[in-house]
Parts: sequence; structure tokens; C-alpha cells
Amino acid sequence: MLGLADCNNFFVSCERVFKPSLAGRPVVVLSNNDGCVISRSNEAKALGIKMGEPVFKIMDLVRNSDVKVFSSNYVLYGDMSRRVMDSIRNMVPAIEVYSIDEAFIDFSGVSTEKLKVMGEAISRVTRRDTGIPISMGISHTKTLAKIASRLSKKYPRLNNSCFLEKDSDIRKVLSTFPVEDVWGIGRRYAKMLRNNGINTALDFCNASPEWVKSKMSIVGLKTWKELHQESCITFEDSVDDKKQICTSRSFSKELSNIEDIYQAVSYFASNCSEKLRKQKGVCSQIQVFILTNYFREDMPQCYQSIVVPIETATDSTLQLVKISCRALEQIYNPLFSYKKAGVIFSQISKKEETTGNIFCDFEVAKHTNLMSALDDVNIKYGRNTLVMAAQGVEKIKAFSNHLSKRYTTSWDDIIEVKI
Ligand SMILES: [Mg+2]
Repeated sequence: MLGLADCNNFFVSCERVFKPSLAGRPVVVLSNNDGCVISRSNEAKALGIKMGEPVFKIMDLVRNSDVKVFSSNYVLYGDMSRRVMDSIRNMVPAIEVYSIDEAFIDFSGVSTEKLKVMGEAISRVTRRDTGIPISMGISHTKTLAKIASRLSKKYPRLNNSCFLEKDSDIRKVLSTFPVEDVWGIGRRYAKMLRNNGINTALDFCNASPEWVKSKMSIVGLKTWKELHQESCITFEDSVDDKKQICTSRSFSKELSNIEDIYQAVSYFASNCSEKLRKQKGVCSQIQVFILTNYFREDMPQCYQSIVVPIETATDSTLQLVKISCRALEQIYNPLFSYKKAGVIFSQISKKEETTGNIFCDFEVAKHTNLMSALDDVNIKYGRNTLVMAAQGVEKIKAFSNHLSKRYTTSWDDIIEVKI
């Protein structure tokens, strides 16, 4: 059996741990630069605040209903996530961290009788240890475990854990579960399925495997099999290395000076390089894009993008930053003010499987050593301790007017208790 532990309204829950007065009140957390809503408490959901909604659209609601607003505090969320995962790891045979707020659990070897109790215990103990509420789902496959965890979130009487085992129960659940909410279906396929009269997960199960494969390829068939209790997505499968790595961000104000945009692009490229090395990859294509603020109707608008091939695939921040900046020069136009930029690395392959270039093998070795020193320093002393000069001395400041403290990672921000 497989489980999924999913933190409820994770970012909001992290804020609530250190501000218990927020319990029972509408709370939202905003994306970078305080742009859109990315996490909502149940009370905020009940007010009709949608996921991804731009904050300016809900300002009236925020004022009238006293919604508490937070900027995203990724240092805090990252550390709380680590604590949640550690707590779960202590109680189960094996876990696979799937995202910042989700982990799959391998329950092989645990008896069915024990599982029901265990699910509830994991949720209770994690809540006690970290303050974060989680919803457990346990079933035969990852896709079914995902569905089970959704149910435990929806029905409080399940005690934060839903164990979906029997055929009849599974069919009953699938018959009311919207097909677009099934893990792995995606918006595009959901539309196609709906057009073909397939509205629920059960309708999808009742389609023939040949039809599913012809319309949705082998990936769709995997989902179909998973719903039929045949486990196809193994632990390794879902931690596949990324085929594309992207970093993009809005600036806190419009930038028209290329020197400023250089810094942003260098920062994004070095961020991507770090992620690239983490998955032991090298990339041979870079895309850089810049765009203006399309909310500013009074200003000229443009979106510029360029794709640059790299002759010898690399993971060196030095080279990748340089190439990204040269690419920026080709698309930058001083007549525009830019609001956002981004860098995308693609054509990623495994470093060990890549053939070197006989003319620059020495260079590659030099860069490899330098990069591992760079990564070591940044792991030990914190991200961005050592950066490329091109990134500028001052880090790109995001708008975050509602930022909470870094309660768990900074001595200066440690929580104060008044007695
Ligand atoms: Mg979640």
C-alpha cells in the first residue's frame, strides 16, 4: 500500500504556527512581489477568494472582511517543510518527498489492520511535532492515494486520514470525483475527456485502455491503470529529473537600464545552474525572455525572447551566466521599460553521459572544481553567500510588504514569549 501525506493550506498553516491568533480567520499568502494569492485558509476560500487571483482584485474583500495578508516567506516554509518530512520519516518505512508540502509513503510490509490506525497517527503526531495539519490518503497506488488524501481533507469525520481499500469503496469514490482533479490528467486532456462525455474518474476507468492509449499516449494509460489499482508510478518514476529548469520573476519596479536587467538575468541563470548541478545535469540550450508590464496601458508593450544553443553542454554558472547575458543583449531595447525577465535551461542531459569536447576538457575540469566549491560554500553558509559579480552586490529585492519573520532559521527572529 502507498500513502500520500499532504499539508493543508501549507503556507497559511506555517504562518499560523507562529501566530495562533490567526486560527479561524481568513488568511492568504501572496506570490513573489505580492502579486497573486497562492495559499488560502479555509475561511478565505469560503469568502470566494480564488487561487491565483491578483491581490488588487480582492483589496475590497481584504479590507471589509479583515483578511490577513502575508508575503511569501520561503525561508520559513522550506524549514517547516523539512520538519514535517522529518516527523513523517520517523514513523514509516520509507518516504519520497514529492513537493514542499507533499510526501509519498511506502507502506509495504505493514498489515492492512495497522494501516488505518497508522494514517491517523502520522497526521496526529506530525501536527503535534510541527503544528502543521496534514491530510493522509492511503490506497493501492499513488494516484488513488492522492484521491484518498483529497477526501480526508474534505470530510472532517475521517480524522485526517482516508484509507481506500475495497473495490466497492473505490468505485463509489471515483463515481463522484471530477476527472480533471485526477493526478496526471491535466487541463488539456480533461477538456478532451469532457468533450467525449467522460466527466468523472469512474467514467475514465470505464473507457477502454486502447481508447485511452490512442488519445492520451502511454502516460494516460498509466493513470488509467493506477485507477484500476495497478501501481505504475514507482517511487523513482515521480522524482524524474527536470527536462527544463526555469527561473523568472517580476521586478519590484520597471527597469529600463540594461545594467539592472543584467543583474536579474545573471541571478536567474545562476539559480538555474545551481538546480542543474543538483540533478547532475548539463544543458545545451538557453532561452532568455523579457517583457513589459501589461497592466500599464499607458506604456508601450513588448515581449522578447531568444533561444541560444550551446556548443558544449555545461553546468558551469560562469559560462551559463555569460551566455544568458549575451542573449539578453540581443533582445533588449532601451525604448521599453521591463517588468519581468526569465531564464529557461533546456536540452538537459546527464553530465556523466555527455561526451566532452577534446578542445576544452581542461576548462571543463577547472569549472567543475570551481562549481563544487561554490555549491559547498552556499550549502554551508546559506544560499547566495557566494555569487557571481554580475549578479550585483545587492540582491534583487522582491516586493514583500507583508513578510513574517524567519522564526525557525534566524536567531534575530526567534519568537518572543511574554510572561
Ligand atoms: Mg497541500
